[in-house]
Amino acid sequence: MIKKRMNDVNVTGKTVLVRVDFNVPIEDGVITDDNRIRQALPTLENLLERRAKVVCFSHLGRVKTEDDKSGKSLDIVAKKLAEHLGKKVKFVPETRGKTLETAIAALKAGEIMMFENTRFEDIEGKKESKNDENLGRYWASLGDVFINDAFGTAHREHASNVGIATYIDESAAGLLLEKEIDFIGNAIENPKRPFVAILGGVKVSDKIGVIRNLLKKADRVLIGGGMSYTFMRAQGYEIGTSVVEDDKLDLARTLLDEGKDKLVLPIDFKLTKAFDNDAPIRIAARDEFSKEEMGLDVGPKTIEKYQELLTGAKTVVWNGPVGVFEMSNFAKGTIAICETLANLNEATTIIGGGDSAAAAIKFGYETSFSHISTGGGASLEYLEGKTLPGVACLDNR
Ligand code: ADP
Ligand code: MG
Repeated sequence: MIKKRMNDVNVTGKTVLVRVDFNVPIEDGVITDDNRIRQALPTLENLLERRAKVVCFSHLGRVKTEDDKSGKSLDIVAKKLAEHLGKKVKFVPETRGKTLETAIAALKAGEIMMFENTRFEDIEGKKESKNDENLGRYWASLGDVFINDAFGTAHREHASNVGIATYIDESAAGLLLEKEIDFIGNAIENPKRPFVAILGGVKVSDKIGVIRNLLKKADRVLIGGGMSYTFMRAQGYEIGTSVVEDDKLDLARTLLDEGKDKLVLPIDFKLTKAFDNDAPIRIAARDEFSKEEMGLDVGPKTIEKYQELLTGAKTVVWNGPVGVFEMSNFAKGTIAICETLANLNEATTIIGGGDSAAAAIKFGYETSFSHISTGGGASLEYLEGKTLPGVACLDNR
């Protein structure tokens, strides 16, 4: 990575502004998954050990009106962070103003504080989300150094990442951002081969850019999930009531032409007549769909074929479940992918994609991959080969 890293920067005694991604799920005032908080700990602990004055901040959900603010304060996140750090985290329920400035001025080396949800600045004129210049300048004025560790919003150009980085003297990547960029960046730009990609999920249209880019970079691209049926439709198969994007058939044909043997489609499926876990199931080949049936998972022959194609792979990138894994009767294909990748001991295995990551964690494979990305949208754009504004804005080394 050509970008400056956190450890390149002298932070001792300096006021360090840290953009973290604490956009955690909250139900009835309780954080239901604190993974994003835990993922930010190495960066925050490193800065505290080096006796920086740490000011961290994040967005939480979407805030468009005053009413949206309810339940979107970061106060409970600050409490959870304090528990993890075993240290006081002062919380200031403001995004600007005297109280915030006084609290920052009072911060001592080795202390940490947090301020309010950056999206509270979206109520009037979307200042945060539209990267309002004055807001970026103001936040930059509050510190000496900016560390961006929020990979989950790195594909967005907001005041709390790009704005601050533009107007502050020094900026660098946090440890989590660095890890994400290194893993995904190396896989795309400098993969150990064979490099196999597995792409699933519901829609082809969500993944066009990724399929295109990975067809250029990978040795094989294995397709699964709902998007398979748009490809099969394009090839002229009956796909019954399976999900399909009829307006993407030409595109699917183009991708099939571009991909040739590299692009591999499932050869059998689990079919049902209803989108229901308890509906009767039948395994069928791709030319055996009736008009009433839909495919909700890949079948055993596909699993076997994909396992063979993954044997010996040195780099694997997986984005998108290969079946409706939320229902136990259609989770088998996705579990088999987890299991297969977990056993590829010599490979770098990466999951980029919110639902695929959720699936891997749900089925007990959280620690079986080289890297599970913390940013669904950001990892998707990075896999597409796009530049992430939240990374591009940081100082070069
Ligand atoms: P990710 O977040 O990992 O990028 P997507 O959001 O693209 O993945 O897709 C995830 C969704 O795809 C899951 O909710 C899953 O149920 C759905 N899915 C997978 N296979 C099928 C299928 N055959 N029919 C309908 N939905 C499917
Ligand atoms: Mg998703």
